[in-house]
Amino acid sequence: MARTVKCPSCGGELTVKDENRDFMFCEYCGTKVMLDDYRETHRFVDEARIQESKDAKELELKKMEFEERKRHEENANASKTIKTCLIIIIVCFAILMIGGFLGFFH
Ligand SMILES: [Zn+2]
Repeated sequence: MARTVKCPSCGGELTVKDENRDFMFCEYCGTKVMLDDYRETHRFVDEARIQESKDAKELELKKMEFEERKRHEENANASKTIKTCLIIIIVCFAILMIGGFLGFFH
């Protein structure tokens, strides 16, 4: 990320390079220019990074929530299948019982 500072001595626009951290020298007049906003810039970057990780966490939470909901749906489907099976078994038993009582299987 390139940024510029104004030389306090001659007012020239100076491009701050990555290796310039706390100060740099003006390329026009040679004045030592303190880069006071260095920490400000980094604080901003850190905050952006924190926000980013927060977003990532939220995304993960949403993903987990989605997975949870999917699991719930699968469980609901499974219990529905089990209920259907039980009903079929009960009906079969009922038919067998009725058949037994009526003597069809004797
Ligand atoms: Zn200068």
